[in-house]
Amino acid sequence: MASRFDGSFTQQEPIPEAGIEAALEVMRHGRLHRYNVVEGELGEAALLEQDFAALTGARYCVAVASGGYALSCALRALGIGPGDRVLSNAFTLAPVPGAIASVGAVPVFVGVTEDLVIDFDDLEAKLGQARVLMLSHMRGHVCDMDRLSALCREAGVIVIEDCAHTMGAAWRGVPSGRHGTIGCYSTQTYKHVNSGEGGLIVTDDDDLAARMVLLSGSYMLYGRHLAAPDAAVFDDLRWQTPNVSGRMDNLRAAILRPQLSLLEERRLRWEELYRAMEAGLWDVPGLTLVPRPAEESFVGSSFQFLLLDQPAEAISAIVAGCAARGVELKWFGPEEPTGFTSRYSSWRYAESAPLPRTDRVLAGLLDMRLPLTFSVEDCAVIADIVAEEVSAEMTRRSARAASPAPE
Ligand SMILES: *Cc1c(COP(=O)(O)O)cnc(C)c1O
Repeated sequence: MASRFDGSFTQQEPIPEAGIEAALEVMRHGRLHRYNVVEGELGEAALLEQDFAALTGARYCVAVASGGYALSCALRALGIGPGDRVLSNAFTLAPVPGAIASVGAVPVFVGVTEDLVIDFDDLEAKLGQARVLMLSHMRGHVCDMDRLSALCREAGVIVIEDCAHTMGAAWRGVPSGRHGTIGCYSTQTYKHVNSGEGGLIVTDDDDLAARMVLLSGSYMLYGRHLAAPDAAVFDDLRWQTPNVSGRMDNLRAAILRPQLSLLEERRLRWEELYRAMEAGLWDVPGLTLVPRPAEESFVGSSFQFLLLDQPAEAISAIVAGCAARGVELKWFGPEEPTGFTSRYSSWRYAESAPLPRTDRVLAGLLDMRLPLTFSVEDCAVIADIVAEEVSAEMTRRSARAASPAPE
């Protein structure tokens, strides 16, 4: 009988006990608002910022309400507004073009390669069109950051990194989020640390950091931050910067702080799961794996593979076959977006010129989550099911090709 997988692709690990304890403490004293501290108390949100700045080696950190908020806050701090064009990957999640649209700016989509990273040829062709690139390390695939940084520097384009899938990852030892001028992270449940919702922003730039603290809604209490610039930097900015309220609270910060120290351990466990999937799908005809460059230290919290140049019916059949055996694959091919998968053509508020190379990749792109509640054995079972369903469909197709149905 065909094997079945019974695990849940959306079940994350529980919050570590230390996080639960810290959260209970915040609830017991009731001071959930980040600026509600008693004499001498350092709030959890301020401490989280200090911890995350230290972890990434950034001078400054601001904790905010969501990853999407972090992205729009970064754009506002850079003075991006109505009518401005912002470059971004065509392969990303809806909150990225959403953040650009939220400040009235216009996304200009840059194509993606078969390696699921930004297409440098397309980027070079479009660098002249915008002042900012919002680079999304979608599903944890990091492009050659040395080349990217050099290209953008030369063109005078500022880079905001969307690190929703790369918190804990690095390129040649430099943490993801630290190549660009601003790095944005999400602490939403499906990312690498979990507070339900939440976001973090890092930068080394005094002026931008102060603007983002003020934008997040600091009133005149920015002095209570532990990873913000000196008060003098705020002197003029505090009169000029709108409060676009989007702070993180002490409860979420308390849940998150103990998880930061687990990030590297989590990365190693994720890599084991990822490598088990990869090993199980290594030599399946018709199935293309995504290469992982040696310079990249990645967080394998999700897994992608390509069924390039296959007819949509074949991929549909494979997705259905896997689903019937408990394996949830997300496919970026269909016109109609489902669940969290949407394509640049789904964001109709942001017109794009067609990107044929990207369309070919997305038409064959399959994606699955790898929550840490999976074991290496689970991954082997999942990989077997995928391999069998892909092979079975390929066999059916070649049989049909050999004996065409009568007219
Ligand atoms: C989740 C996600 C975001 C936004 O994060 P939220 O915290 O959900 O707002 C941004 N970019 C990508 C690629 C994401 O997956």
